[in-house]
Amino acid sequence: MEKRVAELADRLVAEHCLEKEEYAFLIDHRSEALASRLAEAAVKVRREIYGNAVFTRGLIEIGNICKNDCIYCGIRRSNGNCDRYRLTPEQILSCADEGYELGFRTFVMQGGEDAYFTDERLSGIVSEIKRRHPDCAVTLSMGERSRESYQTLFDAGADRYLLRHETADPVHYHRLHPPEMSWENRMRCLRDLQEIGYQVGCGFMVGSPYQTSRELAEDLAFIESFRPDMCGIGPFVPHHDTPFSDQPAGTLELTCFLLSVIRLIHPAVLLPATTALGTIHPRGRELGILAGANVVMPNLSPTAVRNKYELYDNKICTGEESAQCRGCLAQRMRSIGYELAVDRGDIRRS
Ligand code: SAH
Repeated sequence: MEKRVAELADRLVAEHCLEKEEYAFLIDHRSEALASRLAEAAVKVRREIYGNAVFTRGLIEIGNICKNDCIYCGIRRSNGNCDRYRLTPEQILSCADEGYELGFRTFVMQGGEDAYFTDERLSGIVSEIKRRHPDCAVTLSMGERSRESYQTLFDAGADRYLLRHETADPVHYHRLHPPEMSWENRMRCLRDLQEIGYQVGCGFMVGSPYQTSRELAEDLAFIESFRPDMCGIGPFVPHHDTPFSDQPAGTLELTCFLLSVIRLIHPAVLLPATTALGTIHPRGRELGILAGANVVMPNLSPTAVRNKYELYDNKICTGEESAQCRGCLAQRMRSIGYELAVDRGDIRRS
């Protein structure tokens, strides 16, 4: 390994931080040898905190109706070919009941930004899940809302909120989103969520259009300072009905490299091996765990709507029942020496 690269890798492992330019340098000069060095160190620190456990979250995709028009996303409002749906509160609650029986202790409700899901409706669903399953955590991933709304949902019992920052660079943000969306508001949401007391997840797509090592270095520096409890990163995968349909997908190699770097920056962070990673490579999620991830999010949505929550092309796990989806992931984790944990899987704060 080149001397400067080796020196930066050692410092990242020892001190959990680098300068922005140094992150960019590492990304630009990465090699198989560097990736193995970082993955080994990442797995070691994760093992010291979490042992062999991989945490699991049951993902309920509650609707694909969305007022936003994110250029990369298959459920953007301009996509006239998207077959829209929304689950009823009863359907959502029965997904959670089924998930509980299967061993899930965290439920993630994710969906498009849909005015139907008012604070009142969402709060009712959140508090009913918590009433039925008090030993579970509820995570929301419903996009940008007002601070008051986040507070109301927190008061109703929501424990965690996932809102990927998408990119820490405002210029890059504006190239991925329509003019009416703003990086400033995304950041405002993340700060509000943290201040209210949620466990907060940020994150970004790897290989999104116009992204270079400079933007990625901004993302890493942002994660270093924001200190999220969770961080969702997965490859960008083009969707055929979006303006980015011809753009190349992000790679397994760079995603795994960044998973290791993020684990080293923030050893206790909850880091999923995402469905998008499983989509671009048959063993993508296993390889993500071996690079430093420690969360998987199998699908609990009713099979009838699964193929409709199509953020990107060729999304996996749209055919199976929830039990099959969990069983398949448990088997995949066992094949690499890890076990799915049956508990809420909160972040360990040291
Ligand atoms: N409406 C919610 C949930 C969004 S979907 C919100 O705004 O947070 C969850 C994540 O899927 C997004 O944050 C985005 O990073 C990712 N995503 C969307 N389109 C994608 C694509 N084409 N490839 C990979 N990931 C994508």
